[in-house]
Amino acid sequence: MKRFMSNFHRQNIATEVFTMSVIQEIRCPNCGAPITFNPGEIIATCRYCGFTSVIETGKAFTLEHSIILNEYDLNQAEKLVRDWMRSGFLKPGDLARSSKIVEKSLTYLPFWVVPVTAASTYKGIFERIAPSIVKEGKIEKKYDWLVLARKAVEFPTREYDVPLEGKVAYDFRKIEEFAKVLNSEMEEREAVELAKQQIEDHHQFLAKQDVDRIIEMKNQFSIGDSVYLHAPVWFIVYEYKGERYNILLDGATGVVIKGDIPATKFGLF
Ligand SMILES: [Zn+2]
Repeated sequence: MKRFMSNFHRQNIATEVFTMSVIQEIRCPNCGAPITFNPGEIIATCRYCGFTSVIETGKAFTLEHSIILNEYDLNQAEKLVRDWMRSGFLKPGDLARSSKIVEKSLTYLPFWVVPVTAASTYKGIFERIAPSIVKEGKIEKKYDWLVLARKAVEFPTREYDVPLEGKVAYDFRKIEEFAKVLNSEMEEREAVELAKQQIEDHHQFLAKQDVDRIIEMKNQFSIGDSVYLHAPVWFIVYEYKGERYNILLDGATGVVIKGDIPATKFGLF
């Protein structure tokens, strides 16, 4: 299995070391407390009063800011990981028993949720059976498309089924002392562009189930008001037989979003 998160992890540590020297500060327009931020961050949330502002202008952020709450404490998160280790037959039989959890941290990751109605019409050639024919089709779908508002972080956004029905207005009082809250490095505009690109790719993929070669494709998007969302993700590192592996756990549902599994040797002997 691919070690998909090793970059993420490195990034995290690198950022922490980095911030010691280049951290910047503004005053919260609401309560006057210092708000610290890192280079590249665009929207910052005050740790003391929950006020969210646009760093460059110092003005209040005016779109909806929501949060999905974390439902687990450190012990429960560890238990969920152990349960995951015990389930599924692709994992080594002694994984839960022989692993040591060496890091558990809860981070509220920033996302943009972009409501999009996307309609694509396409024309393509169907050549699976001879003679090939020209086919036309239409894909029309509604999405709450999720865009991670951080640039250097590798996160499996498409595998993360964010439980949007659980979102509430951002409330800093609900955030655990030990949790980290990351700021957005992306404006809404940029998130919308990314969402469009990703949906286009996705529709192309869908069209290719129907035709073998696309000759023409037109996409139309109708975009609603984006929501800025913080969602809880646990970053877990465990050690198994001297190697380290990463797990991402959804703090709202307790589901493992993605987890590294040590290679097992399958065979007849
Ligand atoms: Zn404040």
